[in-house]
Amino acid sequence: MKYFDHAAATPPYEDVVRTVAEVMAAHYGNPSSLHKLGEESGRLLMKAREVCAAALGVKSGEIVFTSGATESNNLAVKGAALQYTGRGRHLITTQIEHPSVWECYVQLEKQGWDVTFLPVDKNGQISVQDALDAVRKDTVLLSVMHVNNETGCIQPVEELGRRLKKEYPRVIFHVDGVQGFGKVPLSLMDSGIDLYSLSAHKLKGPRGAGLLMVREGLSLVPLMSGGGQEDSLRPGTENIPAVVGMAKAIRLAKEGEQQRADLLNALRKQLIQGLAAWPELIVHSGKAAAPHIVHFSYPGMKAEAFLHMLEEQGFLVSTKSACSSKKAEPSRVLLAMGAGKAEAESGVRISLSEEHTTGDIQELLAAIGKSVDRVRRLKGEN
Ligand code: PMP
Repeated sequence: MKYFDHAAATPPYEDVVRTVAEVMAAHYGNPSSLHKLGEESGRLLMKAREVCAAALGVKSGEIVFTSGATESNNLAVKGAALQYTGRGRHLITTQIEHPSVWECYVQLEKQGWDVTFLPVDKNGQISVQDALDAVRKDTVLLSVMHVNNETGCIQPVEELGRRLKKEYPRVIFHVDGVQGFGKVPLSLMDSGIDLYSLSAHKLKGPRGAGLLMVREGLSLVPLMSGGGQEDSLRPGTENIPAVVGMAKAIRLAKEGEQQRADLLNALRKQLIQGLAAWPELIVHSGKAAAPHIVHFSYPGMKAEAFLHMLEEQGFLVSTKSACSSKKAEPSRVLLAMGAGKAEAESGVRISLSEEHTTGDIQELLAAIGKSVDRVRRLKGEN
């Protein structure tokens, strides 16, 4: 089997698997315990926080460990909206956010908040000016993802952050960094970004681990009540093995970022050039797209059927994104980009790893070619 679904989950680094197992076996003390074993676990937690903070270029006190980016995004959006209701009841996000952000805004809207959902152009990008124009006196929070998980489209979060903080410093800026980190360089320093979410399993780290960077001075209402762990923002006994494994994966992701991006970009270019052989495929991952995602639609063809044709030939890809692929509706992201229903129902996502070779891409293209031929034959017979 050839795996082309790295935007959904990545195979962990062997070193991370070893570290997680070692920490789990040897350091089972609860960091809240006052004895030696507890203190050891506490030290591991502190060290992991420092490693993550250094990789992100922030202070270690600004890192909150969570169970993954879904939790980080929930904590960021609901936590900020609830904390700062005194500032106003207006929130801004985009029409193409991941469900873990999108659904928070939909829920808040139902509870009486006023939400502006920013549109995107045909390439899937928001306009910085539109975002700034949407800010009102009572705007509390703005969420914009760095890289879209379906199309790979990169959002102009650096320019937006800089201008937002200059023109409207009191508006809190949240960025879902899950698909960008380690592949699309982004400096958090002086970025204007107040809240930034990551997930370990997209970075060859363990599943069920993530973080939220919370800028110093910002308060959030926690999602859960309990002990005082993670500065009371995320109560519950800390998952030390996962956190230590995640810190290692985040460090490695940051260290190899540019080299990884170059390797992936070359593979992506080869794949996009190859896809041009079939005029019925509409490629959505345009110019400003992350190097690991290629997304295309095959109007008139159900994405799931196409996915299974590729699977029969040994290639694993995604329809839409893994999180929403079990829902039958057309892609919200493609509809926002102006795609018709047939196009929005037939999206296929291929996501790459730097370990793929040009030979892997050739084989994948050959399998896509066979599938397209099969569909053409079936259509001809009808
Ligand atoms: N945001 C984005 C952009 C994602 O791609 C994902 C994972 N599909 C998430 C958030 C949620 O991450 P997790 O699976 O860690 O909850």
